[in-house]
Amino acid sequence: MSGADALEAFARAAAERPQATALLCDIDGTVSPIAPTPAEARVPAAFRDLLAALVPRLGLVAFVTGRALEDGRRMIPLDGAAYVGTHGLETMAVDGPLVVEPLAERYVAAVHETAQAAARDLDCEALGVVLEDKRTVLAVHYRLAEDPAATRRRILERVVAPARRRGLAVATGHFAFEVRPPLPFTKGTAVRRLLDAGGHLAAMSCGDDLTDVAMFTAVRDWGERDARRLTLALAAVTGETPRPVVEAADVTVRATPGVYRALRRLAEAVGAV
Ligand SMILES: [Mg+2]
Repeated sequence: MSGADALEAFARAAAERPQATALLCDIDGTVSPIAPTPAEARVPAAFRDLLAALVPRLGLVAFVTGRALEDGRRMIPLDGAAYVGTHGLETMAVDGPLVVEPLAERYVAAVHETAQAAARDLDCEALGVVLEDKRTVLAVHYRLAEDPAATRRRILERVVAPARRRGLAVATGHFAFEVRPPLPFTKGTAVRRLLDAGGHLAAMSCGDDLTDVAMFTAVRDWGERDARRLTLALAAVTGETPRPVVEAADVTVRATPGVYRALRRLAEAVGAV
């Protein structure tokens, strides 16, 4: 672990005011080991129990995922937690309804057309490509590709370029592309809204991929607006972690056991375990 002192300082601050402490946590690659396909990923029971214990002790626990919100909630269904899905296009406040950004609805047809064309124009099975149609977003995963560079070029030509011609935006992730509405919603805008709605004084964000950098930055900016606030960005890293994720973090730990140990330290500090 690097940044152990920062983690310790955050845990001590959280211990003083657990109900003013927020935890904003990505799912895949952070509390769920990366699997060959998204459908195979699971949150280990030990993680689930630890997070379940944190929910009533902290002021806010929010799961902030690139998955569709209901899919994220299926992976870690906890009463009393908030959820953000499809990188900020869907939100569910604690005990609230699922809210889709109204502007995103306009792009559902274009995303669907892109998904259908991708299924037709890419030989997904042979290439090792997995399409994930999340209604407002299409994810194109190529972690299973035998030749990732060639597969990436094929996706750029057959999916990314046509999606752009349909007026959609394209984000790059870890062995994945995301075709999405050209709207300024990110994990960062979503957590900013959650934090602004509460009277929190400490916020910890945990993530492992490029889209989590927007969350780290939003939480840090939120902290810098008030001298009483303390924030901590924790990156779950592997040998493949994109450089900006490491650079944007205060603490880096090994994915995913290091995340477990860091959250366990937080849970001990606030008396959740
Ligand atoms: Mg992730």
